[in-house]
Amino acid sequence: MAFLPFYISKQKRLKVVIIGGGYAGIAALTTLLRYAPDTDITIIDPREQHIKITHLHETFRYPLTDLLVPFTDIASRYGCRYIAASVHFDQDELQKCQEQKQLILDKEVLSFDYLLIVSGCESSATDPTDNVLGLQDFTIAAGSDLLTKLLNKNNQSEQSISVVGGGATGIQFLFEIKQFLQRIKSNAELRLIHSGEHVLEQFPHGFSTYVQSRMQDMGIAFYPNTYYCGQQSNKVLLAEKQTEKQFELSSSLSILFLGKKTQNVFTANAFGQVIEDKSPLSNIFVAGDCSYYQSLGSNTLTAQSAVRKGKLVARNILRHSGFPGLLEPYLHRDLGYVVSLGPADAVGWLGSESNLITGMPALAIKELVEAQYDLLLVGIDTYLV
Ligand SMILES: Cc1cc2nc3c(=O)[nH]c(=O)nc-3n(C[C@H](O)[C@H](O)[C@H](O)COP(=O)(O)OP(=O)(O)OC[C@H]3O[C@@H](n4cnc5c(N)ncnc54)[C@H](O)[C@@H]3O)c2cc1C
Repeated sequence: MAFLPFYISKQKRLKVVIIGGGYAGIAALTTLLRYAPDTDITIIDPREQHIKITHLHETFRYPLTDLLVPFTDIASRYGCRYIAASVHFDQDELQKCQEQKQLILDKEVLSFDYLLIVSGCESSATDPTDNVLGLQDFTIAAGSDLLTKLLNKNNQSEQSISVVGGGATGIQFLFEIKQFLQRIKSNAELRLIHSGEHVLEQFPHGFSTYVQSRMQDMGIAFYPNTYYCGQQSNKVLLAEKQTEKQFELSSSLSILFLGKKTQNVFTANAFGQVIEDKSPLSNIFVAGDCSYYQSLGSNTLTAQSAVRKGKLVARNILRHSGFPGLLEPYLHRDLGYVVSLGPADAVGWLGSESNLITGMPALAIKELVEAQYDLLLVGIDTYLV
């Protein structure tokens, strides 16, 4: 068994309920079992499969099934229990959960020593229209299948696709779509609609310069400072940001990447314990995209932070349950970030935001980080920080 500093077990078999089996949930599960293999863990998630979501844009090249790991497999691999359910809390319920150490589901009452909320952040919803796609659609079918079906259905001679949102997810999808269209020899026009002046505004300036020049090289039209107002049967309605003047362009399909909803985010102290009425709930922890820690560490909505927070709360659950009960604060700083631009290009930073990397070296770093997570999923922890 691995050694965890500042943790002497009180020899009781701990019951931990984990709500959400995404990046933070898996990191917490594997870390708990690494240091305390007899922990009794229940994982609750409405989906049947864990999705390696950081690869989702690659389903224009690979089958979606490559990214799915059934929770039943995870449960049998790690000897834990999986319940297919969706759990939602309001503030009073959390306080009650802490007092009673019970979680009430539809069909049963689960008692726990510690509850961990890692249910992520929902993506902003899309219009439920036939020719509008959003992130959620790509978790159900591969990008290649979805796009082929829609292009075939729409039998116009000149087709065009409007991708909306120039954040990291939108850009990763945009480049995959462009290269997919080239591979299937489609002459559909591709454009990016973005409400800001530049793409990837949350990253160092070099990101947008590089990406916008690659878009130009590849013939992707760019509409900055433009709001999406809706997709109709064969056109997209847009508005200029400054003047609010509306205009339309011919468009067979819109694909929306409008960012994440920031609702249902729980504030936690630096140890990951949820704060309610200004005091921490000692047995309820939170991590990943649905958490905001009051600490010096990074609260970015990334897999990198989700994994670090998930691992930290697992260690803190064990420390809190044992002796002397000293918890570790969250101090993780982002080590870098890479945005892929299709199968052979990427842009990112490593170590310091001023250290810009592009092309194959950037792609290699991304693949290394993804491989590290794949290893964690099978129980091999190679994270040094
Ligand atoms: C296309 C794409 C590419 C990305 N690329 C990168 C990247 O390269 N690098 C990076 O660092 N980050 C990347 N991200 C961001 C990263 O994926 C997220 O920050 C990360 O997944 C957050 O982890 P999480 O565990 O908090 O949430 P998630 O991984 O979203 O997991 C949440 C889990 O909770 C479950 N759940 C939801 N609601 C409930 C509920 N009510 N009850 C129970 N369970 C629930 C969900 O089904 C899901 O399994 C990318 C995101 C996308 C979409």
